[in-house]
Amino acid sequence: MKPFEKCPICGEELIEKEVEKLLHGGNHTAIVYVQAAVCLHCGERLYKQETVRYFEQIRNKLRRQEVSEFFHLGQFFAIRRQDDNLKLSE
Ligand SMILES: [Zn+2]
Repeated sequence: MKPFEKCPICGEELIEKEVEKLLHGGNHTAIVYVQAAVCLHCGERLYKQETVRYFEQIRNKLRRQEVSEFFHLGQFFAIRRQDDNLKLSE
């Protein structure tokens, strides 16, 4: 049974497909591939309750540094531009 038949944001059709989800825990980041219901119109993603619980388990493992079972892809960098002053009005 699908949790939603239509997008709760825009009312358009949802399709089930595999998506990438970025999860953060402590200083670690993981990319997780899961099934989600995705709106073809606005891109809204809906996850099953069990998938949301799975995300929380992964975040806890990242926080506790229990990462030995995860596949190491490469280094993760955080970059903040120094001269990036947003001008919202002229
Ligand atoms: Zn939508």
